[in-house]
Amino acid sequence: MPKLTAALLALAALSSAHAPSHQDEPAKPPPFVRCIPCKNEGRLPCAAHPKEEMHFEDGVQMCSLVAGCATCNGTGWLDCADCENPRWGDALATKRAQQAGLKTYTSRFDDEMKRPLRKIVTPHIMLVWELDELKIDKRTVRHHELMHIYAERLEKLFVDYTTVMGTGARDFKDRMTVFVWSKEADQMEGSTRFTGQSNQRGVKLLGATSAYSVLGTKQNFRDDTALHRNLVHNVTHLILSHQAPSQWLGNIKHGWVDEGLAHWFEERYWGLCDNYCYEEQNSNVDFKGGKWKPVVRRMVAENDLAPMAEVLQKNTDGLSLPMHALAFSYVDYLLATDAAKFNELCKLLRKRVETRDALAKALGTNVLELEQRWKAWVLATYPVR
Ligand SMILES: [Zn+2]
Ligand SMILES: [Zn+2]
Ligand SMILES: [Zn+2]
Ligand SMILES: [Zn+2]
Repeated sequence: MPKLTAALLALAALSSAHAPSHQDEPAKPPPFVRCIPCKNEGRLPCAAHPKEEMHFEDGVQMCSLVAGCATCNGTGWLDCADCENPRWGDALATKRAQQAGLKTYTSRFDDEMKRPLRKIVTPHIMLVWELDELKIDKRTVRHHELMHIYAERLEKLFVDYTTVMGTGARDFKDRMTVFVWSKEADQMEGSTRFTGQSNQRGVKLLGATSAYSVLGTKQNFRDDTALHRNLVHNVTHLILSHQAPSQWLGNIKHGWVDEGLAHWFEERYWGLCDNYCYEEQNSNVDFKGGKWKPVVRRMVAENDLAPMAEVLQKNTDGLSLPMHALAFSYVDYLLATDAAKFNELCKLLRKRVETRDALAKALGTNVLELEQRWKAWVLATYPVR
């Protein structure tokens, strides 16, 4: 029963984060149960929803497609009357207890748009999802599964970010809110309401309140991968700017960190960077096909590049295309050599410490020395092609 095993493992992972440790007690064998109706899960899918979709609910805190159901209290599952499985029971009880608060938290989005939206909440992401379907690996995935896939992808990005940067959930006061619309009129209205600006493609609000609103249709993104990568790039901006102390770096002359880290996560998952933050959000921008390591290596080898001292003075919208690639590579170097120090540097910059002082304090270096070390590292580690 691989599906059941996977679900049990997923729940074990979720619940172990909060479970008190009992290291002093000898491990007790799990209670022996053999319950036909629930296949030993101790729970049954709520009959008000498609049975095969209820496993989606295990990975999230709230899903608007089941949240209104009084029978299962918005969890998609009911306790089995014939047996008990403490793992599922505890998780379901926790989830039931969270529903009222999460419904209040998410209802303001419905109120603003004056209609019920599809919404999904994970520990660090609130996603409004209005796309009806999308092809993933040649399979047409319908909206319910699709919104769960995207919510889990973004939650995974958050966890990856905090792991890479060596930070923790305590540095984040609020969830990152993300809106993926299917109609241009909704993107225009939603971006105005939730980010304070509007355009037909994508708009971010950065800092203490962080939100990204995007029109997720074919006119902007050719496929699932393109949309996924765009969300990874932009949600990285949200996470970086929201991390304590909250501050957007892109308009206080540290665009290199802002764009560099967002590109770094694109490169980490796809080996490819093709999202650029410009005023115009031009969708046809490309720099050397987006595979930047050999490109940067050549720039360094041929000494055909802007000095680091110049790049470290630019706002995000002042970075040229080659500077985007350099910014990616600076971040790549700093994460590879000492991620904790890079995280410290980002914190100092968000506190508005001057670049020169922040480099001295976090890295014990200056721009010229840093540039020499970075160049040597690029030549030693990046591929020629
Ligand atoms: Zn759901
Ligand atoms: Zn139900
Ligand atoms: Zn049972
Ligand atoms: Zn960007």
